[in-house]
Amino acid sequence: MLPTGLIACVLLHMAASVEVPKLNMLDGGQMPAIALGTYLGFDQNGVVRSKSKELRDAVLAAVDAGYRHIDTAAIYETESEIGEALKMKFNEGVVKRDDMFITTKLWNTAHKKEQVEPAIRSALNKTGLDYFDLYLMHWPIALNEDNSYANVDIMETWRALEDVQRLGLTKSIGLSNFNKEQLQRVLSEGSIKPVALQIEVHPQIIQSDLISFCKSEGIIVMGYSPFGSLVMRYGLQFPGPKMDDPLLVGLGQKYGKTPAQIVLRWAVDRGVVPIPKTIKPSRLTENISIFDFKLTPDEIEKINQYNSNTRYTIPSFWQEHPNYPFEKIDNPVKDPFKKD
Ligand code: NDP
Repeated sequence: MLPTGLIACVLLHMAASVEVPKLNMLDGGQMPAIALGTYLGFDQNGVVRSKSKELRDAVLAAVDAGYRHIDTAAIYETESEIGEALKMKFNEGVVKRDDMFITTKLWNTAHKKEQVEPAIRSALNKTGLDYFDLYLMHWPIALNEDNSYANVDIMETWRALEDVQRLGLTKSIGLSNFNKEQLQRVLSEGSIKPVALQIEVHPQIIQSDLISFCKSEGIIVMGYSPFGSLVMRYGLQFPGPKMDDPLLVGLGQKYGKTPAQIVLRWAVDRGVVPIPKTIKPSRLTENISIFDFKLTPDEIEKINQYNSNTRYTIPSFWQEHPNYPFEKIDNPVKDPFKKD
């Protein structure tokens, strides 16, 4: 017989792990309805790297909390620590490979058809995995090694993604940061339909048109930067609702949730897979504890009213590229990736 303390401990552990629902993808696979974001940001030295294995530890805690979907990208430089954490969780027997859904992305400097297979193999090597669940073209922007614009058609890259899927290196393929016209082109000229489109979605950019179009095509929308103005970005506060916003606080009181959870649930209720990033264990649990309530259509509509089509990810340094997907701005910033 197990001692009472141990039983309580086991029950507590079970209760702490959230069961995340899954969405059906049009190629027959299933995607967990929330993903852990793993981009640690950018500073004057380039991409921020994980310190003292903080990202590995966050992924370990995330798996324990119930996350089954991890979002990464070659450019984030987090693939190795994610792989390390997964290996530990596989060895502990907490999860098996097919319990997990791993999304990663092809970077812009590897768009030529002969570069795509080596790029995904390199990412697999870093993670120690045999396959990814989802491989996305990160941007419709092809660059040369020195970050000058490369002349590679998006269909050349897409066909190479189709090839790596056929080789079994990824179960599914999709796109990120494509606008509607670019997505339509892939749909009409490609042999395999993208299963997912990853774009910026939060209360300041609700993306209604692109989301309805994707829904009509059976494509899942993954929403990045899901907290919008609720959190600081680049060390700054941007206009828009904050954590003390009366509507979000009121809905939080009604459902016993925080404003952050209300905004994540708003995404889920619109059929969007949110990708919240945190490395803090308490926030990991907070962000995934959103599957025991639902907003009403009227509440969703009220949050939609915060829309101002404001993006936080505006790589205006690429705006003269022929495939730049967004609206151009007046004063483009200097390319942080470009070496002088
Ligand atoms: P998020 O909206 O996830 O915001 C992250 C910030 O919110 C961090 O500062 C985090 O701090 C804080 N935070 C997290 N949870 C809470 C909480 N419950 N309460 C208060 N603060 C919280 O934005 P990101 O821009 O990081 O996007 C998320 C993910 O989307 C990325 O990690 C990446 O995987 C993906 N992405 C994809 C892009 C693409 O081009 N496809 C572009 C941008 C992002 P802390 O860590 O200290 O908890």
